[in-house]
Amino acid sequence: MNAELISVGSELLLGQIVNTNAAFLSQELALLGVNVFYQTTVGDNGQRLTSALELANSRSDLIIITGGLGPTKDDLTKETVASFVNSKLVHHEESLHNIESYFQKRNRPMSENNRKQALVIEGSHVLHNYFGMAPGMIVSLNDTKIVMLPGPPQEMKPMFTNELVPQLVNMMGEQTSITSRVLRFFGIGESQLETDLLDLIESQTNPTIAPLANEGEVTLRLTVKHADPMEQKRLLDETEEQITKRVGQYLYGYGETSLMEQLFLQLQEKHCTIATAESFTGGKFSGMLTAFPGSSAIYRGGFVSYATDVKEKVLGVSNELIRTYGVISHQCAIEMAQRTKEQCGSDIAISFTGVAGPTKQEGKEPGTIFIGVCGLTPEPMAYKLNLAGNRAAITDRAIKYGCFYLLNE
Ligand code: ATP
Ligand code: MG
Repeated sequence: MNAELISVGSELLLGQIVNTNAAFLSQELALLGVNVFYQTTVGDNGQRLTSALELANSRSDLIIITGGLGPTKDDLTKETVASFVNSKLVHHEESLHNIESYFQKRNRPMSENNRKQALVIEGSHVLHNYFGMAPGMIVSLNDTKIVMLPGPPQEMKPMFTNELVPQLVNMMGEQTSITSRVLRFFGIGESQLETDLLDLIESQTNPTIAPLANEGEVTLRLTVKHADPMEQKRLLDETEEQITKRVGQYLYGYGETSLMEQLFLQLQEKHCTIATAESFTGGKFSGMLTAFPGSSAIYRGGFVSYATDVKEKVLGVSNELIRTYGVISHQCAIEMAQRTKEQCGSDIAISFTGVAGPTKQEGKEPGTIFIGVCGLTPEPMAYKLNLAGNRAAITDRAIKYGCFYLLNE
């Protein structure tokens, strides 16, 4: 099946918003084995949308349009497609009901143009919108299917995944179902991961393996097609095992779970308490950890010991150690973690000391980081990192490494 995307919206052409819908749809369709050969962006203009549709119709089996399904004057997608397929707009009771209850729940009056959103193209297959008001639609024109999805990504994505994908799978004539498993890696770059798995990625067809890098993490999405859920699981397990044989030491979790959440869950499961000594991270690590409800069971407390004399006076790092090795050192990181563990009475403690930049400190380059961990191994440990990037990037990356070390010890 050859697909084509049409993104509608003058804001897209003006560069006011980035076309994340097209990126999402292209990625998802690729996973389904649907080739996207063209992406077009048009403004909120009926004539130009019609020209885009004519061209798309001449070369694609599946046209997916996003945007312009709303209630305002500039939202022209439905009207334009209706006239393109020689059909008309008719009332759709279920959608009207959905819109009415949307307003009732929010205790807001419903305006006449909101009713317009309950109009659908006669003869279309309606896609339910659980996160907004405008329904989506699928219409057929000879052998081509034209799909309309709302513009807001938070409405478009679930409609695509939950409402459209099952229809697409049917259209492709396969009595099968599709599921994905996302494996999350840290501590290995995307290109290294791809190199280590290249033959697998290239040869695997069921499941397919798709790498994606984001903020220092890499995910692999395994997508399997099979009618039998047990068989789906077996195929996914088998591929996961092949992957972990090679790069298992970097795998830290699944799905949407962040490193910090994974750490939180692990500490909770092990009934292990933690304390923190943070210098350049300024309390961000503990802030992130305590964002999870139930953190009182695992988080004892900690110190933001930013200035050198606070490390000494409050935390109890010895003056001699600081004079001998400096605060950006293995020794200081270990001492910070040890003192914190003692003072907070926790099972383990982690410390962060280093140079977030932009200027050097103690003659050390920005990105020179030491992370101390105490209580996990017989002897306390400190890890040295040389991280690149600005202050925010260095801090965020260091926190992720901190989580990763704690998870892996
Ligand atoms: P609404 O009911 O909100 O008007 P709509 O279906 O008419 O929805 P648009 O008016 O085209 O959609 O866009 C609404 C908003 O959705 C935009 O302001 C933008 O924030 C977001 N949006 C639209 N298209 C895209 C896109 N291609 N990529 C990312 N965001 C988009
Ligand atoms: Mg709109």
